[in-house]
Amino acid sequence: MFKANIAAAEQLNRHSDKRSEETFIAEQMNAANTRFIVLVGEKPVIQSSGLGEEGSVRWFSLADLQSYGFPVEQSYFLGTHPSDGGGRFALAITEDLAKTATNAIETMRPAVDLRTLAKNEVLPSEELSTIGMAKALNHWHENARYCGHCGGATEIRDGGWRRVCSPCGRQHFPRTDPVVIMLIVDPSGERCLLGHEARFETNMWSTLAGFIEHGEDIEHAVRRETMEEAGLKIGDVRYHSTQPWPFPHSLMIGCHGIAETSEITIDPKEIQEARWFSRNEILLMLDESHPDGIFVPGKQAIARSLIQSFADGEVV
Ligand SMILES: [Zn+2]
Repeated sequence: MFKANIAAAEQLNRHSDKRSEETFIAEQMNAANTRFIVLVGEKPVIQSSGLGEEGSVRWFSLADLQSYGFPVEQSYFLGTHPSDGGGRFALAITEDLAKTATNAIETMRPAVDLRTLAKNEVLPSEELSTIGMAKALNHWHENARYCGHCGGATEIRDGGWRRVCSPCGRQHFPRTDPVVIMLIVDPSGERCLLGHEARFETNMWSTLAGFIEHGEDIEHAVRRETMEEAGLKIGDVRYHSTQPWPFPHSLMIGCHGIAETSEITIDPKEIQEARWFSRNEILLMLDESHPDGIFVPGKQAIARSLIQSFADGEVV
């Protein structure tokens, strides 16, 4: 089964049972093999030999970051790595700090956004996934500096996996937003539904998707979103796979949905176009050889995995 290149970082041991111990985090931060990812304005600093070439994260030591005067105590603990037993942390800094810190400007570039890195397959999947984890966590911190209950300032704890409100003591934890993403198959089983949204690249078609609302289960969200966006009644809903999606911090829950009706009525507020595609057309789109120049999302997206599953005859 095809798997998207942004996924769970399988190799890291997150030590979620130990990261509430301040001494544990301090030990990991100071361990000899510990390395840091730097996010500059959410973009990871990488090293690459050139455009279109394979690259890797540019890993920094604690001493490197201290020499630039960066606020290392604000780093997030991602886990330890089995290759050398060292810790892996991420530190997010502003573009201004990257430009003005002593001796930093040469090593703080290039900083490239994760979407571009994943789409162009510049980094290995494990590194893309680790960056995704760091980016999602950082986005939560950026929006959790003040307590939603009393408005007081919150402080970082547990290596970045918790914040505590100083005035009222309330605890805040990183949130993941669940999203259903569904490959809909028509009643004959021979065609699947894809849509085109205004925000998509020209000629790109993809599966429908939407946030799960409070009080819904996965099946309900799949049926509601498909009815709202395409006017189709869905019967059977089957789980396929999931993907962490760090834009900003969602979990994509991939499903197959079997349509009971086939007449499409789109909601133009949600989607520009939606139509049925034959298996043959889908194969051409996956291969980027469709005569109309239309194509499906790249290897960074679970949508491709769902579409591939239809092409492979997995949906029956
Ligand atoms: Zn509070």
